[in-house]
Amino acid sequence: MSDVRKCQVLVVGGGPGGYPAAIRAGQLGLDTVIVDKHGLGGTCLNRGCIPSKAFIHAASKFEEMRHSAAKSEMGISLVAEPTFDMGGLTAWKDGVVGKLTKGVGQLLKAAKVEAIAGWAKFENAKTCVVETNDGGTIRIEAENVILATGSKEVEILSLPFGGPIVGSTEALELTELPEDLVVVGGGYIGLELGIAFRKMGSNVSVVEALDTVLPSYDKELIRPVQMWLKKNKVAVHLKSLAKSVVEEGGQTFLEYADDKGEIQRLKADKVLVAVGRVAVTEGWGLETMGLEMDGRFIKVDDQCRTGMRGVYAIGDLVGEPLLAHKATKQGELVAEIIAGHRRRFDPVSIAAVCFTEPELVGVGLTPDEAKAKGETVITGKFPLAASGRALTMEGGADGGFVRVTARESDHVVLGIHAVGKHVSELSGEFALAVEMGARLEDIAGAIHVHPTLTEGFAESALAALGHPIHISA
Ligand code: FAD
Ligand code: NAD
Repeated sequence: MSDVRKCQVLVVGGGPGGYPAAIRAGQLGLDTVIVDKHGLGGTCLNRGCIPSKAFIHAASKFEEMRHSAAKSEMGISLVAEPTFDMGGLTAWKDGVVGKLTKGVGQLLKAAKVEAIAGWAKFENAKTCVVETNDGGTIRIEAENVILATGSKEVEILSLPFGGPIVGSTEALELTELPEDLVVVGGGYIGLELGIAFRKMGSNVSVVEALDTVLPSYDKELIRPVQMWLKKNKVAVHLKSLAKSVVEEGGQTFLEYADDKGEIQRLKADKVLVAVGRVAVTEGWGLETMGLEMDGRFIKVDDQCRTGMRGVYAIGDLVGEPLLAHKATKQGELVAEIIAGHRRRFDPVSIAAVCFTEPELVGVGLTPDEAKAKGETVITGKFPLAASGRALTMEGGADGGFVRVTARESDHVVLGIHAVGKHVSELSGEFALAVEMGARLEDIAGAIHVHPTLTEGFAESALAALGHPIHISA
């Protein structure tokens, strides 16, 4: 006989969707239980956002040191080449992850949430049995259920994970630097990690099915990233489909069909497959719950309610965009709805950042997207080569810029996009401007601190209004 735990709120999944939902529910005085099998923090803290950003930071640091060893600049030189130890990097990353996941555990405890390490399997919409990681069994009967089971890597049938073929999870656990890395998929993960491995010293090539890398960003925006890839000898094979891995003469190769359909080979110590992620909908009794689906995701309304009363779903499980901050906002919101607050998930836009070299930020509509929606727009663009702050941080030479798109009739900002070194830190101001319905005059009229990159945002608004100060109109 297993123990029975009754609660007001059961959260399944401890990622950036689930754990904030549980903390908020606890803060609101609801008796809350959270269950996660693979570690609090979910994909994001353990195998995603944080590990990848740790790798990206370390790779950039190593690359900068190599430059200093090769050429004295800014009065800095290194008398010897720096060395790199992949095992040391992975251990440091694990330390960062450990601090954060421990912190999540403490926050849950402070909010009086019971955290159970184990796998939950539903028998019906409100009852599940948890096989705990320490070998026990707990039966949970909940008044409300928040499903936050997240997503996992898409596997290509002809390239099953194992041996030299890895997904992002394993790539972030490597203890030896691959000499030749082939990345299949030139999207977020492929380019963020591909660029990081290039900076660490791997030979990197990318095989992408479409006619562009980073297909979710527009051509003008990705040009600086393409320039970096070219300058740093990252070969990008577009309109190409990865086929299989072959071993020959003691070496491993990835075979792919190129844009003419001809089979080509790339030497590969590791093949990183990063062709998207799919919701985790199997193995936890979804079929017993009677929920409606929206393709491969769970269908929810603007309060994250499924078709079943008292059952909510959030985060990657409910579809695009598959981003941590979207999951978190939905988690907080659902807890408040359960506590009786009137809330809706209705953002004007969800900001996205791609931590490539240089970085990309997108909030709201691009000029083409706005036009496709029938808007007549004006745009303003400010090159970061004209930003004092960018130049003091070795930016500006990479073709970076800030671009604002506004409705011509009332100057309401519809979209803001930027590319360049360190522009990820502008995403907060961009998101606020779009969410609050700011006009160009609001942006241009707010005094922006000198010298910061944010001045570039104000200048882009001034450019859209026809009178920029630091570039010719
Ligand atoms: P998840 O984080 O996937 O968490 C779900 C959790 O539920 C997992 O721990 C899983 O083990 C657990 N679980 C599932 N089923 C059960 C069950 N039945 N019982 C118990 N536990 C269960 N997003 C960004 O916004 N910024 C980034 O920079 C970024 N970088 C990324 C880099 C990489 C390499 C990857 C892979 C992803 C990245 N993402 C990033 C995406 C981000 O990680 C996801 O959008 C986010 O983690 C989704 O949160 P979630 O709570 O919906 O699910
Ligand atoms: P993605 O959708 O960003 O990119 C996948 C790429 O693979 C696409 O360009 C696609 O055209 C290509 N592709 C698909 N099938 C292919 C094939 N058979 N051969 C060659 N190319 C193929 O997916 P991802 O990079 O796996 O990332 C998954 C999700 O994780 C993203 O959608 C994003 O939401 C999230 N993520 C976010 C961040 C961030 O916010 N900075 C970072 C990493 C991941």
